Amino acid sequence: MKIFSYQPEFLIKLSLYIIILNSSVLSGQGNEKVKVRFIDYYFENASPLSWKIQGDTIVKISLPADYERESLNRQTDHWYFKLEADSGTRVKLILSKMMADVYNGKLATNWWNFKDDISCYISYDNKIWEAIKTSRLPGMELKVDFIMKGESVYIARIPPYTISDLENLKKRITNNSSVKIFNIGSTVEKRPLEIIRIGDPDAPNSVLIRARAHPWEPGGSWVVEGLINEFISRNSKKWKETFCVYIMPMANKDGVAHGMTRFNVSGKDLNRNWDKMADSVLCPEKYALEKFIESLISKGKKPGLAIDIHNDDGGGINLAAHSKDDIQFQKNMKIFESLMRSHTSFSENMKYSWKTEGQPVSNVSFENGLLSRYGIEAIVYELNANRISSLDKMPEQDDWLETGKNLNQVFYEYFTKPASERLP
Ligand SMILES: [Zn+2]
Repeated sequence: MKIFSYQPEFLIKLSLYIIILNSSVLSGQGNEKVKVRFIDYYFENASPLSWKIQGDTIVKISLPADYERESLNRQTDHWYFKLEADSGTRVKLILSKMMADVYNGKLATNWWNFKDDISCYISYDNKIWEAIKTSRLPGMELKVDFIMKGESVYIARIPPYTISDLENLKKRITNNSSVKIFNIGSTVEKRPLEIIRIGDPDAPNSVLIRARAHPWEPGGSWVVEGLINEFISRNSKKWKETFCVYIMPMANKDGVAHGMTRFNVSGKDLNRNWDKMADSVLCPEKYALEKFIESLISKGKKPGLAIDIHNDDGGGINLAAHSKDDIQFQKNMKIFESLMRSHTSFSENMKYSWKTEGQPVSNVSFENGLLSRYGIEAIVYELNANRISSLDKMPEQDDWLETGKNLNQVFYEYFTKPASERLP
């Protein structure tokens, strides 16, 4: 993830703003009495937090980090809670990271200073989510300001997708003839880890998809649900004759259950250390997937493409590092890129990286591990959590369902391109 630095005039504007904000807090001159009755974060996927009323107009939400084992890394990017107040109350929230994030060993002091506004969503029924405007305060704070249209409101970083949502999806599709669901292991806390296979396992091509390695990133869960829904309802003969998809729909289930940001409950990052097999006790979520990939390979069913779906603040597709001479790979990825741009709202960059001989490998993520260990072409697909440029809006769950729906056609066309254009 790239960290941008503050524009000076932006800083000055925001500093003035916070001085004004603080003086009204200190003098207690606000006319609005705080009518916030309670903040509930005791439900599935809700984020740990503490809260306090500042002055009489502001509620400050402080968010703790979650931590990586044997490392300085920590991250705070998930919030999800329910606020109770009188309908009509003007809610002024300050969302605050209790500590700056540490990413790949580096302190990210300006974490929330990205090109686009940070997204935040509210919902009165915990189903339909509306994107709302946020403003960044200096440091690690974000301000959200809106009028309550009900007696309680859910507030989240990204439209949540919980384990219950996954269970509902499984119930709905389990008897479909195109679907097979099987367990490949269990999480640290013994939640079952499933693979949802759609399509015919004897199809000539297959795609492996993992969603939710990082719990704060539900975009991938929405994409996967959209993809499955469309594959089933379209019931296309040509799709089924061309590809099947193996989906690990929620890799970090424990983290989702606890409302965590990044790591599993043993402090392992499921998108690191892909140069070697995971420890089956500390990181069973990655270990189970690696074993599953190896079982596919031993049956002669190596996936033609693997995709790890994430959210971040900028979006883009990270490609595995190849040699610059690998022309066929570049041809394939140009085709994939053009299909993504024509069939989905994908609007960021394909990020190429080139292999340099003798350079030590660190922080090996999904795409590079799958390519170097198994010879599987793999990508990390970062859905921009803040903006979809091609649609000129903050992303909503329907946008990601739509992306998933259209991935089917991307796969179909990718695998049916004439051999001269694509595969070696
Ligand atoms: Zn991620």
